[in-house]
Amino acid sequence: MSQPSRIRIIIRGAVQGVGFRPFVYRLASALKLSGWVSNSAQGVLIEAEGAADRLQEFLVRIERERPVHASIHSLEYSFLDSIGFAGFEIRHSDSHGAKTALVLPDIGTCRECLAEIFDSADRRYLYPFTNCTNCGPRFTIIESLPYDRPNTTMRNFTMCLLCRGEYEDPSNRRFHAQPNACAECGPHLELWSPSGSTIAVGHEAMAGTVEALRSGRIAAVKGIGGFHLMVDALNDDAVVRLRQRKQREEKPFAVMAPSLDWVHQLCAVNPIEARLLSASESPIVILPRRNDHLARSIAPRNPFLGVMLPYTPLHHILLDQVRVPLVATSGNLSDEPICIDECEALRRLGGIADVFLVHNRPIRRHVDDSIVRVMLGREQILRRARGYAPLPIVVKHFLPGTLAVGAHLKNAIALVTKSGVFLSQHIGDLDNHEALTAFRTVIDDFERMFEVRPDRTACDLHPDYASTHYAESVPIRIQHHCAHVASCMADNDLDAPVLGVAWDGSGYGTDQTIWGGEFLLAESAGFRRVGHFRTFPLPGGDAAAKKPKHTAIGLLYEILGETAFDGSEPPLLRQALIRQVRTPRTSSVGRLFDAVASITGIRHDISFQGQAAMELEFAVAKSVGESYSYRVESRAALVVDWEPMIHEIHGDLINRIAIGVIAAKFHNTLAEIVVDVARRVGESKVVLTGGCFQNRYLTERTVHLLEDAGFLPYWHQRVPPNDGGIALGQAVISSTNLESVKEQPCVWQSRAR
Ligand code: ZN
Ligand code: ZN
Ligand code: FE
Repeated sequence: MSQPSRIRIIIRGAVQGVGFRPFVYRLASALKLSGWVSNSAQGVLIEAEGAADRLQEFLVRIERERPVHASIHSLEYSFLDSIGFAGFEIRHSDSHGAKTALVLPDIGTCRECLAEIFDSADRRYLYPFTNCTNCGPRFTIIESLPYDRPNTTMRNFTMCLLCRGEYEDPSNRRFHAQPNACAECGPHLELWSPSGSTIAVGHEAMAGTVEALRSGRIAAVKGIGGFHLMVDALNDDAVVRLRQRKQREEKPFAVMAPSLDWVHQLCAVNPIEARLLSASESPIVILPRRNDHLARSIAPRNPFLGVMLPYTPLHHILLDQVRVPLVATSGNLSDEPICIDECEALRRLGGIADVFLVHNRPIRRHVDDSIVRVMLGREQILRRARGYAPLPIVVKHFLPGTLAVGAHLKNAIALVTKSGVFLSQHIGDLDNHEALTAFRTVIDDFERMFEVRPDRTACDLHPDYASTHYAESVPIRIQHHCAHVASCMADNDLDAPVLGVAWDGSGYGTDQTIWGGEFLLAESAGFRRVGHFRTFPLPGGDAAAKKPKHTAIGLLYEILGETAFDGSEPPLLRQALIRQVRTPRTSSVGRLFDAVASITGIRHDISFQGQAAMELEFAVAKSVGESYSYRVESRAALVVDWEPMIHEIHGDLINRIAIGVIAAKFHNTLAEIVVDVARRVGESKVVLTGGCFQNRYLTERTVHLLEDAGFLPYWHQRVPPNDGGIALGQAVISSTNLESVKEQPCVWQSRAR
């Protein structure tokens, strides 16, 4: 873990003019790091090189030992290739870059505000809407720019004399704190019944919620970017009831823990994870679970737990009084966007929650909790929303005026302005009316907020994605997996040539097949599909994603013909395969995971996206080093044939080899395939992208094997490996090489059909 690497850190907040740069200089020098620090229009920029463990320490200590008057509102970093700096220097401030006002994300409660709300002598004692210039809502209350109180949802609250005094005093922590408020003049809490009648107000509303939660009832709690559904995480009956009412059978729930000590009790936490949990962004962090006494049905058969700490005064007070971890899941029915408005919440959550803890500070836009994990010593964002959106992603090349509408599932959009690529908050799966409305709203919202009327629109090649339908009549259509690869390249600041390994569930290919097991060589002129997995028939097409069993039958039919049928399969399925109706072929590795999960008996049906692959990953026996056979055939492109592996898995099943061993050998084989193909292609830089690389075991194993073989592996950091990262890839591709897009017959792009 101690190879030299470079880290790029962007810190936003009250960090300019408070001795921050000299502090960074001293810390970097003490840790023997080379590089530089500078102020820019974007915030404080740091690049540092050194051993990976020292860079980790650097990160943790920047946050912990920062100057007294410095306050960090946002800290994002990426690990990049080293350049070879000599010494560490304070660089002159960089006045380049557009000085546009950034819209800040919402910021978790700061230490000072926290101290006030728990100080019985303070005038803000137990006031749930306490904030200051260093913390509180931003993105979720802004109606238009500039960011001034009349342009926020706080405009209807007139500050009392004391609050006004703070707001106008340059020496006060609340000088120009736009959401400044107190119990006298600001928003207040109410507790409502499901029919919308008021049960209690103010402190009694909080007390009533605590009482309801303690007795196992479900509370809908209005937070900063929408409603949470909350329930006592130690009470299994209550959690089961929430699952039934929310129609969410098994998808893991996140937990809000009262304190970091509590998190340590529930999970194993390293210093980087502890920093992240307590950071201003306060995301959900995915952590390895300890044997705990949490309700069993929180995350069935899952060795990990998504945990966050309270991030608003309301949450701090609630958790302080409840004194147990709470399930805190988005207030919605499965797959719909989160609710933001009381009346909407009563309508949509009336059948789920027993009580509603609401308040009268309007939420201007929905923002879900972000999800992050630490893997291979680096952060990886799996869902980019609260705390991160709508900050720009730093990329080398971008063309202002581009709108990228993203994919269909896990949708997010990107708008390119003069200041960079602004990736929206997570929107969700565009399968239902609510999500489609949210999708259109976010696009209008971004265009208005950043004052950009896009003159070109990039979308997926898939003609049936709702996002593609939205795109204008002559959009730039970008092949899904090329967008994945471009996204991962941008995430790691890489230029072509790069070998992209894009593995996911499905994406529209250019050859009448569904892609998803792709090796794409990114060259300056475009992408070449240099390899892919052997295709097999997928009975029912995309619908098979919900039926691993059907996928397995399709895969077996490919190699065994009609002997694959054992009579247990529906006759229609058999007919579909034999007659090749509604049975597209796919090279998808995601579907290969599903098939193997079913063949090994782990899972035949799923209740949420990716469930079968996740359970196959969790089954892996870690100490197993063996793998299965496969073939690589050289045709127009390399074709990875999984048939020998399937026969060997069958043999292992007959020999009663443990499922954990089979799962490990399957994962190990996939990792070896990446190295094998990389050798044949001969490109040293290899990026790993697509939903399959949410699989921790697969990603770690592949990275280690690639490194051992002398390759340079890259994976996602600031944007998700899943389809949440597609919009960035679309934005980058349509920004960089527009001329060659028109002239070259690249696989990744074609004009409207
Ligand atoms: Zn504060
Ligand atoms: Zn006041
Ligand atoms: Fe994808």
